[in-house]
Amino acid sequence: MIEVRTHTALHIVKGAVRKVLGAKWTASTYVKDNHGRLTVKFERKPTEDEIEEIFKLSNEKVKENVTILTEVLPREEAERKYGDEIYDLFPVPPEVKELYIVIIPNWNINACNKQHTKSTGEVGEIIKDYWRFRNSKQLLEIAFNINQ
Ligand SMILES: [Zn+2]
Repeated sequence: MIEVRTHTALHIVKGAVRKVLGAKWTASTYVKDNHGRLTVKFERKPTEDEIEEIFKLSNEKVKENVTILTEVLPREEAERKYGDEIYDLFPVPPEVKELYIVIIPNWNINACNKQHTKSTGEVGEIIKDYWRFRNSKQLLEIAFNINQ
């Protein structure tokens, strides 16, 4: 399923965004076929070099072919163990008592109950499409494609 790979790419790109820009909070995500878009809370327009660095690091992580881990934990335990690093701006509903924690070691950690590839290598090359910073909303959108 192509969208499993595209979705997994979001986790890889987010890890790079966290490293290069320090941006912590994902505001929204979008996946359609081989096209993905990550929107994060950010306070300034990044430079073109920073965006290039994000894609360079993302593709290095793909080449490393790291195993993607999943932990299923009671919500309270997950919060004790990982803090709010697992969360996005859009909240997990309060009735959810068990969390699927998706981990790309030393790269990205996120509560996410969607399907993922077993390793970063399965995603294949992540190709920059466009990016846009909306100053009024302090939102940075980064869009990409993966190979079909
Ligand atoms: Zn996910």
